[in-house]
Amino acid sequence: GSALSMAMERTYIMIKPDGVQRGLVGNIVSRFETKGYKLSAMKTKMASKELLDQHYKDLVEKPFFPKLREYMMSGPVVCMVWEGKEAVTTGRKMLGATNPLASEPGTIRGDFCIEVGRNICHGSDSVENAEREIGLWFEEGEVLDWESHSKDWIY
Ligand code: ADP
Ligand code: MG
Repeated sequence: GSALSMAMERTYIMIKPDGVQRGLVGNIVSRFETKGYKLSAMKTKMASKELLDQHYKDLVEKPFFPKLREYMMSGPVVCMVWEGKEAVTTGRKMLGATNPLASEPGTIRGDFCIEVGRNICHGSDSVENAEREIGLWFEEGEVLDWESHSKDWIY
């Protein structure tokens, strides 16, 4: 319905190579799915250096950036677009704090990791960045427009 869809937003969630290697894809997908978000796109991908430079454009000057890029290129990532009410803010809450030691238990990082340099997942930090990141990681035709393909099932 139109009243509800007005509030809809999309976020870019990515499972990093350690999350994929450790077999956490299903668990992470399940959390977003059961929370009530709609999966608009999902694929595996090997990230390129160029793509990571763009994705992390605000971090390229940081001392840890070379290690971050190496980590992100160490294996396949799982790229996803999740859609629903306040998906960006809620997605960040579900991920937990950047440093897993500061992440609350019950969050993805809080439940599964202890190293900031191996923190399993990425989530967009603003609606603007979400749209930017979706455009970087996905081709136009790869992202489903739920609005024109489904009825209101739950919401
Ligand atoms: P977030 O992923 O929570 O949005 P940032 O955008 O600040 O966090 O950083 C991007 C990613 O860079 C983090 O998720 C983490 O993997 C890595 N990172 C951030 N800070 C550090 C650090 N001090 N040392 C190593 N890696 C870091
Ligand atoms: Mg960030």
